[in-house]
Amino acid sequence: MFRIDIGNDTHRLVDGRPLMLGGVHVAYERGGDGHSDADALLHAISDAILGALCEGDLGAHFPDTDPQWKGVSSLQLLSHVVSLAHELGKRIVNVDSTIMIEAPKMRPYVLSMRENIAEVLGVEIACVSVKAKTGEGLDTVGQGLAVSAQAVVLITS
Ligand SMILES: [Zn+2]
Repeated sequence: MFRIDIGNDTHRLVDGRPLMLGGVHVAYERGGDGHSDADALLHAISDAILGALCEGDLGAHFPDTDPQWKGVSSLQLLSHVVSLAHELGKRIVNVDSTIMIEAPKMRPYVLSMRENIAEVLGVEIACVSVKAKTGEGLDTVGQGLAVSAQAVVLITS
């Protein structure tokens, strides 16, 4: 049996924080604000997996009031979610995702992101797609105030 779900996430971009996306440190003058490393891409993928499992959302599993998760790599959070899927007898088939950020260009980092995600999910890199778009100068992404990500995940028994 196949199950599918969508996840999305947004973080405010602020000075003095590293920009982490897909477990990669992207060189930029600002980074995502948040309790963990504010990796919007990994949070969107994690939420999509939890949704496909009907296991709530990321906030329920990793509350931002819990010091255990402060500053933690979101690769670890994703790894916890994948372990949960495996415990429930499910495995990930494929992931498609889109990062929305006005700057910098994501292209130099996309392969490393896909490698990180594929490794944690236990799938071939050909099963992990990462795309990037700008906000065309329009909304909070376009104004450079935020980074967002969307992900769709297919899982099977
Ligand atoms: Zn997040």
